[in-house]
Order: sequence, then C-alpha cells, then structure tokens
Amino acid sequence: MSQIELRADCARCAALCCVAFHFERSNQFGCDKAAGRPCGHLGRDGRCGIYRDRADRGFRGCVGYDCHGAGQRVTQALFGGRSWMDDPALLAPMAEAFLRAERAHRLLAILRKAGNLDLAAEDRWRHARLEEAFEAAAVEGGPGAALEAQARAFFRTLRRYVAPRGAGNAPGRAGPTAVP
Ligand code: SF4
Repeated sequence: MSQIELRADCARCAALCCVAFHFERSNQFGCDKAAGRPCGHLGRDGRCGIYRDRADRGFRGCVGYDCHGAGQRVTQALFGGRSWMDDPALLAPMAEAFLRAERAHRLLAILRKAGNLDLAAEDRWRHARLEEAFEAAAVEGGPGAALEAQARAFFRTLRRYVAPRGAGNAPGRAGPTAVP
C-alpha cells in the first residue's frame, strides 16, 4: 500500500506553492515574483488575501494549481510541522524541498493514472518498478534527473495505449489526459 498521499491538503502546508515558484506578469499572473519569495498576496496567517477573487485579480494560474500533496508532505514529514513563517531561516530549504517533492508527486500522480491503462505485461512490470522508485524518491526528498528521464521515456511509450483525439477510447481502456 502506498504511503504517499497525492491529495493536496493546504491546511497542513506552510503555503509553499505561494513561495517556491517564480512567476511572470502574464494572463496567468498579475505580477512578477521571484522563486523562493512569498507572494505579495500571502497574508501573515498563511492564507491568500485574494483567494476568492484570484481569477478576477489576474491570478488565474493559481486557481487550477494542484501540488498533489507535496506541500503537506514537505511541511509535515520533512520539516516536522514547522514553518518558514515562524522561522525565516526555513524559507529557502522549505522552498527547495517543495520544488523537488512537487516534481516527484506530479510524476507519481501521472504514473498512478497510467496504471489505469490496459498495459501489456512488460509495460505493467515497468510501471510497477517506476512507481516503486518514485514512491521511494518522494520519501527521500525527490527524484534525481535520471529517474525523471526514465519516467518521461516510459510515458512516451504509453501513447500507443491512448486513442487518437476524436477517435474515442478503445473499449476497456482509460484515456488519461495527463500522459505527456
Ligand atoms: S495570489 Fe494567492 S494563491 Fe496565488 S500565489 Fe499569491 S497568495 Fe498564493
């Protein structure tokens, strides 16, 4: 049974997605922000000050974002429930840990979706090995470049299981939208 929770729980996170990423003023974000710096809309209580109005205030990019549980795992499991808001020295290490964990959780979420495909035995075996490796990497703080490359190569091979756009899915085959 997996020990990695992929459902985000903002209540157990130190608002890490509002800190770790950089963004540029665009139709997705209303201002520029450097990586590792708290967003100007983040309150001292760790809540977004424009949460309900994010899209109208130009922050559409925040609305659909999902860390797949990386935020609460970094905050709780890696930093013991502490927060950079109480100890500013934690700001950089927490932001860096979040970026690594977020990649692991995102790729693990895609792997879990890919597990719904009607994989041939050899691909099912590769899928299981990769899922194990990503579970372990997520626990240890994030996957290395080699493991990420291995996952991306595997995802490319899965295209043959997904029906072309407009053709509908073959009976009995799920059609994940997240296989890159
Ligand atoms: S606008 Fe709100 S949700 Fe988006 S990064 Fe800033 S504080 Fe976070």
